[in-house]
Amino acid sequence: MDAVSGESGSDGLHMGPCAANPHAMPHNSPMRSLLIIAIGLAAAPSVHAEWFSREDAIMGTRIAVELWSTDKVQAEADIDSVMAEMRRVDELMSTYKPTSQVSRVNAEAANHPVRVDADLFGLLQTALEYSRITEGAFDITYASVGYMYDFRRHIKPTEEQIAAALPAVSYRHVVLDPKARTVKFTQPGVRIDLGGIAKGWAVDQGIAVLQKAGIQHAMVTAGGDSRIIGDRFGHPWMVGVRDPRNRDKVAIRMPMVDAAISTSGDYERYFEAEGVRYHHIISPSTGHSASAVRSVTIIGPTATRTDGLSKTIFVLGIEKGMKILDGLGDVDAVAIDKDGQIFYSKGLEAPLASGQNQTDTKN
Ligand code: ADP
Ligand code: MG
Repeated sequence: MDAVSGESGSDGLHMGPCAANPHAMPHNSPMRSLLIIAIGLAAAPSVHAEWFSREDAIMGTRIAVELWSTDKVQAEADIDSVMAEMRRVDELMSTYKPTSQVSRVNAEAANHPVRVDADLFGLLQTALEYSRITEGAFDITYASVGYMYDFRRHIKPTEEQIAAALPAVSYRHVVLDPKARTVKFTQPGVRIDLGGIAKGWAVDQGIAVLQKAGIQHAMVTAGGDSRIIGDRFGHPWMVGVRDPRNRDKVAIRMPMVDAAISTSGDYERYFEAEGVRYHHIISPSTGHSASAVRSVTIIGPTATRTDGLSKTIFVLGIEKGMKILDGLGDVDAVAIDKDGQIFYSKGLEAPLASGQNQTDTKN
């Protein structure tokens, strides 16, 4: 297969020019059928069309949009619309902005039900559904403890602070009333944070904007969450997962068409103290950083889903996490553990595992 090119990668992903590895094609997963569709599309693109791309910093992360269009003015306007949508999501959901609706919920929902925007309400419903699916591994109330960590300033809560705050961590404390479209917390001390799902949701929103505008080939990325529509010149986009201990190395490459991909890593936001790595994925049951693996990548139909589910293996470990993900039927997963060993979900096992069961990490 010919080399295909893509945009430069996010923190978790590398999408770069690289030869497609035929062994990397899943034979048993949603990706395989998507791939076949892509090869079937192979007509050469019009010479009048070109790729338009832009990057920006929104939601505290790198946003990248790349699309194929015949109309420069329209393409730039479409990219503007995606960026505007990202800013809207940030205004609505950021806990760093005291004026956001999520900040208002955190300030008031223990006292009385707080009415929220329909989009936010819908995402809260999805977040609670993912908590149930993942047996509590994904839990937006992790923030009841999580707010006490500051990875940039190397601050972590004491064991006493964690023990005092931990009872407030449970998605069961978040009560949604669909009729009134309100959120209520069952007890004081509960805080929510959508940092584990909002970027994926924003990516899906961006893709929806582009699809509405008639775009058929595009990629939207927000940090470690990306979604692709269509292919690149009749070939799949090649997506690389970086080696968790070496920024410049790609551990795995995968062909992708019409799919979303999210990577969670313990190298994104972290600090080390007394030999312990404190990083931003928190186990809701312990209040500590989840240390089962170094990185998890999920491939699935939407970025909301892949983002929400990428915390599962971190918190539950490989065996239990993979079992849950395999059971869902519409997602695949790749996890890299502490020794650099790579584990695949059922749908990826045979094609990706051959000859690639160890990263070439040095530490
Ligand atoms: P990114 O922020 O780069 O997209 P991830 O998708 O891996 O990274 O999500 C990590 C973020 O998810 C954390 O920064 C935090 O906001 C949130 N988070 C941490 N632990 C949990 C958890 N157990 N459940 C839900 N969200 C979490
Ligand atoms: Mg994410």
